[in-house]
Amino acid sequence: MSEVQFNNVTKRYGDHTALSGISLTIEKDTTTAVIGPSGSGKSTLLQLVNGLVIPDSGSVTVLGKPIDYSRLTELRAQIGYAVQGTGLFPHMSVWKNITLLAKIARWDADRIESRALLLMSTVGLPTRFRDRYPHELSGGEQQRVGLCRAMMLNPRLFILDEPFGALDPITRSAIHQEFLQLQASEPRTMVLVTHDLREAVKLASYLVILDEGRVVQYGSREEILNTPSDSLVVELLRSQLDSWGKSH
Ligand code: ADP
Repeated sequence: MSEVQFNNVTKRYGDHTALSGISLTIEKDTTTAVIGPSGSGKSTLLQLVNGLVIPDSGSVTVLGKPIDYSRLTELRAQIGYAVQGTGLFPHMSVWKNITLLAKIARWDADRIESRALLLMSTVGLPTRFRDRYPHELSGGEQQRVGLCRAMMLNPRLFILDEPFGALDPITRSAIHQEFLQLQASEPRTMVLVTHDLREAVKLASYLVILDEGRVVQYGSREEILNTPSDSLVVELLRSQLDSWGKSH
């Protein structure tokens, strides 16, 4: 069953075409990584999913329905969204950041408590951090809080824009493990933007490779690694995976 579908989508900013004729189908409970050079349209593609970006032509279908742009609040309640730099509310404690959406959705207190504690333990956040404020945490810990917040309502669909950017390699690797653990314990449809092919290969089973607003290749991780269809993909694999392949 398809969870997100782009049907011949084009998006322009002024006279610049950010995305051109994109058609893609993302299946339920899969993780898809969108990769490509800076400016290739990755964030624009992701923001089409929650209606932050509206196509100039073509359409986007999410969770079985074409997006209704007059009812975006409803759509966004079903989508977990995490962005680079975490986007945490600085004046709210860790606990408030994580539980805010559940409060707005009027969950009862016990349900909120048990869900938040479960998520904190899954991503490796000690419960004693609950009363801290974001500035009292390291970058990696803030990122974990961001993941908990996005997962709180157990959304069917999860979109992540460079969620692990700007972290040191060790923290990044630890968070990757926790991300994989979350995926295993609560399978979800995830679309992840990254400029790091190694991260994409580690976390996602499908890859979308974008260049200058077009899909250069879309397929399973194995298909792309084994049969890159284009010189850009070959170059990306060569430059980013060569040194990694030797050490793994
Ligand atoms: P990526 O995420 O791959 O770096 P983006 O989707 O952010 O790419 O941007 C694709 C292109 O569209 C870039 O050339 C960028 O400068 C342009 N762009 C993105 N957002 C806007 C905007 N709000 N206004 C004008 N141009 C934009």
